[in-house]
Amino acid sequence: MAVSSDVLKLPSQVFRQLKLVSKRAYLAYPKIVECNLCGWQGRHFISDCWHPYTICPECRSEVRHRLLVAALSSINGLTYQDIVQNKRVLHFAPEKALKSTFPKYASKYVTADYLVEGLDMKLDISDMSAVQDEAFDLVIACDVLEHVPNDTKAMQEIYRVLSVGGCAIITVPQQDNLKETFEDSTIITPEERKRVFGQWDHLRIYGDNFPSLLESVGFVVRVVQEKNFSQKLVNKHVLFPPVLSKNPLATNYRKIFFARKV
Ligand SMILES: [Zn+2]
Repeated sequence: MAVSSDVLKLPSQVFRQLKLVSKRAYLAYPKIVECNLCGWQGRHFISDCWHPYTICPECRSEVRHRLLVAALSSINGLTYQDIVQNKRVLHFAPEKALKSTFPKYASKYVTADYLVEGLDMKLDISDMSAVQDEAFDLVIACDVLEHVPNDTKAMQEIYRVLSVGGCAIITVPQQDNLKETFEDSTIITPEERKRVFGQWDHLRIYGDNFPSLLESVGFVVRVVQEKNFSQKLVNKHVLFPPVLSKNPLATNYRKIFFARKV
């Protein structure tokens, strides 16, 4: 008698489910680390191909997201919700964890991306002609600029759409100990870009001069990184990779750039 393929699939599905449940139970205790976005607590975060033990199993936050929340919370003792309170916020390539929180507090919250569908605006960050001058108080663009052909134009556009006193929160991948940003427009294949810039769709790899690029379009820049926090807080929220990546293109030392229009 022929056995239905659905019946054969069942044990492996159950096995996979049990494995998942036991992995989650293992991760849940003891409660050593805590995600400052979703509140998940556990033994350690999970790994990705770049860094071991850095991804929240609940909301998928990475070091840069938790560093961003810690950085926002570090300003005058405010919470990160306070920072967006009553602000007009334009959020590029919105991270799931932040996207679910910010609309509750902002007076206006607009999500945008050039490629991703289903957001409020389809917007090229280097040509925001659909957006009026000074239309927003806060622009968030985390790990966006490395994908943009003309990143100087993008920085100018962010500056233009911000109100005076407004702020952009920006992160970019930066190669550890690279002084000058490296870009080569002759590198166009996905394979070559991955080999040289670290990812198939990256157009450059930023160096330590990134703040000066923001300053050159008029911003006043403040940099927040893990060394601005106590070791206890860094360990608790994993604001720094617990194991440094040996990949020469990895960003081990993440920074949050607060670019203010004054
Ligand atoms: Zn989380």
